[in-house]
Amino acid sequence: MMIVMKETASEAEIETVVEKIERVGAHAHRSSGARVTVIGAIGDVETDAQVGALGLEGLPGVDRVVPILKPYKLASAQIRHGEPSVIEVGSRRIGGSSFALIAGPCTVESREQVLATADAVKAGGAALLRGGAYKPRTSPYTFQGLREEGLALLAEAKEHTGMPIVTELMDVRDLPAVLEIADVIQIGARNMQNFTLLSEVGRAGRPVLLKRGLSATLEELLMAAEYILKEGNPHVMLCERGIRTFESAYRATLDLQAVPVLKELTHLPVLVDPSHAAGRRELVRAMSLAAAAAGADGIIVEVHPKPEEALCDGPQALRTEDFAEYAQAVHAAAALAGKERPKSLARAA
Ligand code: PEP
Ligand code: MN
Repeated sequence: MMIVMKETASEAEIETVVEKIERVGAHAHRSSGARVTVIGAIGDVETDAQVGALGLEGLPGVDRVVPILKPYKLASAQIRHGEPSVIEVGSRRIGGSSFALIAGPCTVESREQVLATADAVKAGGAALLRGGAYKPRTSPYTFQGLREEGLALLAEAKEHTGMPIVTELMDVRDLPAVLEIADVIQIGARNMQNFTLLSEVGRAGRPVLLKRGLSATLEELLMAAEYILKEGNPHVMLCERGIRTFESAYRATLDLQAVPVLKELTHLPVLVDPSHAAGRRELVRAMSLAAAAAGADGIIVEVHPKPEEALCDGPQALRTEDFAEYAQAVHAAAALAGKERPKSLARAA
């Protein structure tokens, strides 16, 4: 249920509604917009019915009580009256009118590799640095990531460039180590429905980049986000990274309709990962431009100084020397969709 307060509602009137909701065992989620306060009463089917029977519409300061029609509640666009959420990571913003380019290697391989990539993507105008230390590999016989050593190298790259770090968490046992260095925790496509992991990063409170599962519907993606939000972590961004279809001419089918459709359904920022959908670098630029023009709030892309020698996903990595030109083009496409250009790139616009 969603309780929309009148513009004139006092703090005491809001408090009364919150108390009544909590007394029947539902969680009261308060969201104050520019004009009105909306209180989401979040609970199971039973508590929902109890909240409905409270007669809240008759209370002073209450404008109306409306059901939240979607199975996801905190992720729904309705709960914020259609206002987009903006996630702040250090001094960077993602969502609303802000677009963020996140770039870096698939996996951290060595100090030289990660620092060379970090310098190149920073100079090109990327806002955040990505890099995996724990890698979800299809085969257990391929490189699995440098783990803690990889995290230490990411910490060095952060220190060196000042860029916030996005890195994947696969196992809840590694959460303390990841929290030491990650500004954004990535939950990979294969873990999108690992519900214990989702709840745990929800409790950790750190911003989360949640990737769409290989065969997940948008509703399943939003329900996965709900697990994180429900634990009190509002800093969730969604990421389309290609889905499985009958087409085999490329690694996955980049579902760009997910961008405008998710924006109808949710207030959460929507990112696109063209690298894992494409599987080869020749396709990455076109898909990045299309994603930015479609209104994505950001792009996460793989970049490597020597893709031929990469231990993971080399064929799809952009070359560091091509990154600056690529980033200019992507920001121009994002501007077409109404995004502000980062100040560092504005001069070249
Ligand atoms: C990655 O970002 O390197 C990755 C493994 O992504 P995904 O979970 O989308 O396959
Ligand atoms: Mn990868």
